[in-house]
Amino acid sequence: MIYLWFMLTLRDHTSAAPSDLWIQLGAKRRQLLDRSWAGVFRDYLLLELPVEALAPHFSKDFGRPSKDLHVVLGALVLQQLHDLTDAQTVEAIAFNIAWQYALDVQSEADCYFCERTLRTYRRLVIKHHLDEVLFQSLTDKLIHSVGVNTRKQRIDSTGVQSFMRNLTRLGILVESTSKFLRQLRRTYPELYQGLDPELWRKYVVRTGDGCFASTLPSQSKRRLLEAAADIDALLRQFCPTEAAQLDSYHLLERVFEEQCERICEASGQSSIKMRDPHAISCDNTLNPADPDASYNKRRGVGYLIQVMETFCDDTDKDEEAEEATSAVSEVAKPDLITHMALGKMTVHDSKALLPAIKDTQARGVAPEHLLADTHYGSNQCIAYAKAKGVTLLAPSMPPKGKGQGKLTLEDFEVDASGHIQRCPAGRAPLEMSVSKKRLQVRFAIDVCDQCPLQEGCPIPGKERLQYTHERVKQRARRLSEQSATFRDQYRWRAGIEGTISRLKHQMGLAKLRVRGQSAVQYRVLLRALGLNIHRVAAWRGAFYPQRLFDRLLSALQGHQRVPGPYKPISGNTNRRFEVPTTRVYRCLSPLLERLFADPSTFDNISQNPDI
Ligand code: SF4
Repeated sequence: MIYLWFMLTLRDHTSAAPSDLWIQLGAKRRQLLDRSWAGVFRDYLLLELPVEALAPHFSKDFGRPSKDLHVVLGALVLQQLHDLTDAQTVEAIAFNIAWQYALDVQSEADCYFCERTLRTYRRLVIKHHLDEVLFQSLTDKLIHSVGVNTRKQRIDSTGVQSFMRNLTRLGILVESTSKFLRQLRRTYPELYQGLDPELWRKYVVRTGDGCFASTLPSQSKRRLLEAAADIDALLRQFCPTEAAQLDSYHLLERVFEEQCERICEASGQSSIKMRDPHAISCDNTLNPADPDASYNKRRGVGYLIQVMETFCDDTDKDEEAEEATSAVSEVAKPDLITHMALGKMTVHDSKALLPAIKDTQARGVAPEHLLADTHYGSNQCIAYAKAKGVTLLAPSMPPKGKGQGKLTLEDFEVDASGHIQRCPAGRAPLEMSVSKKRLQVRFAIDVCDQCPLQEGCPIPGKERLQYTHERVKQRARRLSEQSATFRDQYRWRAGIEGTISRLKHQMGLAKLRVRGQSAVQYRVLLRALGLNIHRVAAWRGAFYPQRLFDRLLSALQGHQRVPGPYKPISGNTNRRFEVPTTRVYRCLSPLLERLFADPSTFDNISQNPDI
């Protein structure tokens, strides 16, 4: 607990400073800051930072004063928001006015961080899982401050790769051995003295004969066994020593178990055999630098993240427009990410649905309607969601054989009770029977033998078709998914692909510079929070003309001069009204032109907001 050598510093950010530190900025620069991510962070999030969770790690009355915890935690969030290195972050805190404004830096002592301080605080945040607290509490604050409706949401998943390279089986064995030998020499130099120097040369120095780097593919089978035998010898040599407590020793053991097996022969001796590659699980160690990473055939190597966000469809936009008091105030609320979770590549998406619903329900931001793709669309998932009060709209998987052009139950004519009335060729079945579990129909063999559809039909050869009551329900669901109503509701799911693309390419999740599950999770959560901040800032920027419009409207009604940072129309200073610039000008200038042309419009303006 080295942090107890530092005295806790928590500055008061709630009351206004005795003298406004930002007065030298001027109105326009201050306005720019207010409308940017800096204004969003300062207005909504600064006071919500979980400083009380960090405070117990510092002394109250002894030691060197720590940095202001609001500034520290805020800087860690902003670092991920901008995808900066530690050196760039230190520079930004010291010299960037937007950063200092966002963090409400009040003291010269809080303006300077060294990179080591930043790393120490980051380790503390990761160790105590404050990254989850930061994402959840700050996202909830944004949702409630902006008034985002979380009734409708959508969910999807994507893979992210940590900063690791793909290794062959031989590479995994060699790197694991190298890692153990290096940690052994560093931690227990006296035990290292008993090591065969040849192993150090082959696995760490990697020069001279017998190294693995230049192994030919034709030799790899033999060399795999050679590396496995070396690992076996190392494990046996250091098992009874203190070195068996090292992380790298446990990793070496794990790799050996995953890749090799010991065979006991009749003579009493044991030999080593490599496991069949097809029998190796996708959860196995893929690189000793990141033993938490796993493999998925479709997504590759790394981690799977689940992303759930709010959205507005046409109905919501119409409702918002009705509630709006003017044409300019029709600014749709931003879509915000409500849930992020990081897990193994080997976990199916359907397993992530229930934790996502539970998490959002516990925080009071749960959806009522949830859109998802076919991976979440099992009957079990729909039942789970329904039990939690959520309507899940997700298509079911295509029926077996559909992809190969085969006929399925969906192509047969079935009545409400599940009985087949006609086959795709228009033939009625000869007989039909129903049991508690399944239904069965039989068709005439001679008719089927003459049928042009028999190649793809499930009947010929079997003469009869059996299917369950559950399959009948599935058929009804699949057919309903072809309706225009379903397609119209489901089309809003595609929007989450854009969010995932922004997370990867704008927020930098596609090129992470870290390894290990906890480090990757820290980046994933804080960058999702960063995207939410960017979105709220964009919304505030678009919303700004509305506030100006309201001020203009009240001024017009009172026949007063319009207040605010507007620029007079050049060459005509006698006009009573001034015209705002840039985007505001584009929004308001048609209105002003009409007002100048017909001043009587002033009196009707409050009765006709669409003017
Ligand atoms: S093969 Fe028999 S059951 Fe299948 S479509 Fe033709 S007639 Fe109907």
